[in-house]
Amino acid sequence: MESISVPEWKRAVIKVGSALIAPEGRGCSTKHLLPIARFIIESRNRGREVILVSSGAVAAGRSLKPGRGGAPRSIPEKQALAALGQPLLMAYWSRFFDFPCAQLLLTYDDLLNRHRFVNARNTLHELLRLGSMPVVNENDTVAVEELKVGDNDNLAAHVAVLAGADLLVICSDVDGLFDADPRANPDARHIPVVETIDADIYALAGGKGGPLATGGMRTKLEAADKATARGIDTILINGTKGENFEHLLKGVLHGTIFHRRDTPLTAKKHWMLHTLPSTGRIVVDEGAARALRSEGASLLPSGIVDVEGRFAAGDAVEIVRRRAAEAHPIAKGITQYGDQELLRIRGRHSRDIEEALGYVYTDVVIHRDDLVLIETP
Ligand code: GLU
Repeated sequence: MESISVPEWKRAVIKVGSALIAPEGRGCSTKHLLPIARFIIESRNRGREVILVSSGAVAAGRSLKPGRGGAPRSIPEKQALAALGQPLLMAYWSRFFDFPCAQLLLTYDDLLNRHRFVNARNTLHELLRLGSMPVVNENDTVAVEELKVGDNDNLAAHVAVLAGADLLVICSDVDGLFDADPRANPDARHIPVVETIDADIYALAGGKGGPLATGGMRTKLEAADKATARGIDTILINGTKGENFEHLLKGVLHGTIFHRRDTPLTAKKHWMLHTLPSTGRIVVDEGAARALRSEGASLLPSGIVDVEGRFAAGDAVEIVRRRAAEAHPIAKGITQYGDQELLRIRGRHSRDIEEALGYVYTDVVIHRDDLVLIETP
């Protein structure tokens, strides 16, 4: 496998998945974690900061529940297992280190709500200043299923953004990104470097991972997409091969690196694109699509062909172009008008808004400052 050099880094988020923590499907196992722990200790000795995002609470909880195999059946059961397993997981990691580990359980709400985001960020920075290692997981016990980040790959990317990290390390049980699933296809070719995560790269993400893993390659790409957009290099590494971490200490990667974007999104645009959920869609014509993409324009009512979903002024919506039966997202933004209002002013000139609605908020439907282009058509 080709080796690639990893840029210098000062603060990393390291994500360790269930496949490494509980290779047998339950409990916690030291089998793969010793080299990761050694990597963390050695990195800290060299003056770098590390935040760990660790899965495995549900798997650890299962070890306390005798006699029943298989995946948890109900959501309350899974949430209860997470509550049982989380302290075991913390105790387990703490054994490796002679510095304190600090538990941080986050939900999607903590990322969405500005006050809670800032609060979590301040706490994270304080924990690092105190010399501890934050160990983060989703607060599975209380997070409502529909309002979860849902997988720890994406959670780790959010944490990397929250912490202002310069490196995201996703450890799993595959050797990186391939042009086909290497477990099913022995001819699959390894892709060591990805400059842009576009539709072609997403197309490579095969099916889901093992029974315990929430994510497959797709969530890893989503995580890399989120992190690199904010200027964070992201690497995928096989954590079942201990020697990979020895190489990494020397700045050499056996895996895949997704290079950070040269011009990262601002915090506001990143939050709009990657955290704020969209509640509907605005379908635009070719002219509007071009103006948004190449001319830095705002979205005007004249370019709107249709709306999909129910949304109100102030909501985030996706702007899409329709070709045949497919919708291609172009941008995401915060709309000044709700879906019912847009149905009445679509295709019309801005000066006609007042005539159509009897009032006018603004001449534009989405102002350029409230709009972020989606790079992957
Ligand atoms: N938060 C889950 C757990 O600790 C894992 C989610 C994931 O691995 O993506 O069990």
